[in-house]
Amino acid sequence: MIDLRSDTVTRPTDSMREAMVRAEVGDDVYGEDPTVRALEERVAAMFGKEAALFTPTGSLANVLAVRTVVEPGQEVLCESAAHIARAELGAHGAVSGLTMRTWHHPRGQIDLPQIETLFAPDLGPYFVQTKAIAVENTHNFAGGAVLPLADLQALRAYADRVGVAIHLDGARVWNAHVATGVGLEEYGAIADVLAVCLSKGLGAPIGSLVVGSAEAIAASRVRRKRMGGGMRQTGILAAAGLHALDHHVERLADDHVHARLLAEACGVDPAGVDTNIAVVVRDDAPAFVAAAREQGVLVSAVGPKAVRIVTHLDISKTDAAAAAAILARL
Ligand SMILES: *Cc1c(COP(=O)(O)O)cnc(C)c1O
Repeated sequence: MIDLRSDTVTRPTDSMREAMVRAEVGDDVYGEDPTVRALEERVAAMFGKEAALFTPTGSLANVLAVRTVVEPGQEVLCESAAHIARAELGAHGAVSGLTMRTWHHPRGQIDLPQIETLFAPDLGPYFVQTKAIAVENTHNFAGGAVLPLADLQALRAYADRVGVAIHLDGARVWNAHVATGVGLEEYGAIADVLAVCLSKGLGAPIGSLVVGSAEAIAASRVRRKRMGGGMRQTGILAAAGLHALDHHVERLADDHVHARLLAEACGVDPAGVDTNIAVVVRDDAPAFVAAAREQGVLVSAVGPKAVRIVTHLDISKTDAAAAAAILARL
């Protein structure tokens, strides 16, 4: 089977497993795991921030990150297909007690006029107050779309003007960085707080981080433990993350080439494929997915009319070419 359902399906490479076996560990709830500390310090520095916190999932990293800038009873604005709005099972409401309103953009982009219309200042006991704007780069459900740096910078200027924070869901910010050449610290500079994943394109088995100020990370450490996310000898997992940062960032460019090849095979303009995700719109999405499976290619239906194809570390050039030939026939 050639598995193109998600970039989460990767298995740790042999050298990643070796790094995990060798990892120096300690009790991280006591702050004594040197490998976790090294990962947190390294990732914080990459984004030009003071501190970072290792979490088991990107969803938990998002929940903790947004909670550092929005109090219960306040709101965050985001795009309508954002992962925080659609795919975290209401955690931000259920756990953090905050609300969301959304703008809509077919490519998941920032739309400043819509955001300006949504923004609600503090009106005392009358309306919910907007405290943060969340953006997703790359945007998962918009087919791995990159948010241009100029738009992020314009949003930063607007947020500063009205006094709200920016959260960046950077589960795939690595892909944006490799696709555009924009530095990770430039993405860090437009956000107050970020969430980044090691378990997507980077190929680690587990792991995400919240990245932000020392104060935000200290508060997140308390809330992570409160939710049962205080972990012990997690250096085994952090070692996989460090290995991924050493070996699996620049190679994301290959995934992007493979995604464009697959898009073209399915009759999609490859110019619209920014990174490692291609979305094919067809009326028979579920039937197409089933037919592809019959031929040994796994893709996913995201809704009745869209098929999602995702490339990753475990898809070689040969796999991509073989899958492209099969999908083109279908
Ligand atoms: C995958 C993903 C997350 C986090 O997902 P987990 O499965 O909880 O690790 C967050 N944001 C985006 C955009 C994602 O694609």
